[in-house]
Amino acid sequence: MAEGALVFYSEVDIGPTWRDALHHWMPDLDVRIWPDVGDPQEVRYVMVWKPPEGFFQAFPNLSLIVNLGAGVDAILARGDLPDVPITRVSDPHMSRMMASYVVFAVLRYYRDIPEFERAQRRSEWHYIHPREPDEFTVGVMGLGELGRRAAEELSRWGFRMRGWARSRHEIDGVETFAGPDELLDFLSALDIAVVLLPSTPDTRGMIDRTVLAGLPRGAKLINAARGDLIDEAALVAALDSGHIAEATLDAFQTEPLPADHPFWGMEQVLITPHLASIALPRSSAKQIAENIRRVDRGEALMHQVDPKRGY
Ligand code: NDP
Repeated sequence: MAEGALVFYSEVDIGPTWRDALHHWMPDLDVRIWPDVGDPQEVRYVMVWKPPEGFFQAFPNLSLIVNLGAGVDAILARGDLPDVPITRVSDPHMSRMMASYVVFAVLRYYRDIPEFERAQRRSEWHYIHPREPDEFTVGVMGLGELGRRAAEELSRWGFRMRGWARSRHEIDGVETFAGPDELLDFLSALDIAVVLLPSTPDTRGMIDRTVLAGLPRGAKLINAARGDLIDEAALVAALDSGHIAEATLDAFQTEPLPADHPFWGMEQVLITPHLASIALPRSSAKQIAENIRRVDRGEALMHQVDPKRGY
């Protein structure tokens, strides 16, 4: 039995589905879907994706904030965060869904599909001799929950794999690099760069002119993380010059992507509307219920975010 009520807020996730999933693991949990929050004094936990400004101040007895996703940049950027532990969703099914996006985008380039799509529009039979996957080097930037899984899946397809993160990682079949000093070396051999970094004060704008220039001419870029990691003007220039041959972009500095943004008119850019992966109620509810029990018992939480580190 939890010690208080939980309030759910999201404009994209479905409240009743999450309530049912939580009840599977905690049948007595009092789940209230915003704006039907009842007595705010009774609310001890909130489960949120991008709640409105001032949201937290309505609940004076909060003991847990559950961020309804992996990325915590939006919540940490707020000026109104109470001093309460924040957890993220960390779920193999969410990682699998992200890996499906990344594998799709990499295979699309590896098998020259954009070339064939363009040739078809010209009614042209355009033969390109297929290459072996190990003639192709793919690098994953960010080796956390999502990046590691994506690198492992791609390794199984036979690509030559590289990975880069802040700290040193060891992953079977992946040559790893760490920290700013090894970034340019990491980039220098890539046919495809996959961005799965969190957005933090250190990473915002990181994919700039210098990083793009560090990729070999003709490289392809896949960003399935956050739009503000990328200097979009620099990417447009690199795509215009052909230095970056193609890009698959799921996240943007401004979302929805404005109608006059140059990316829309670039046939070498594939745009998807920020859905590479999502928090999945059935597979994530168990860890959220467990964290509610832990916070009530004063125990260490799982998947707690470090606000100072930013992820
Ligand atoms: P994690 O927090 O698990 O991992 C982050 C990784 O990035 C770690 O490997 C970390 O290094 C590395 N990293 C962080 N800062 C730096 C830095 N300054 N330099 C180099 N490497 C750094 O994140 P997830 O894998 O769970 O998720 C990644 C991001 O994907 C999320 O933050 C979110 O923004 C985005 N996302 C996008 C979705 C979409 O639909 N488009 C869906 C879900 C998430 P180290 O291992 O050394 O700590």
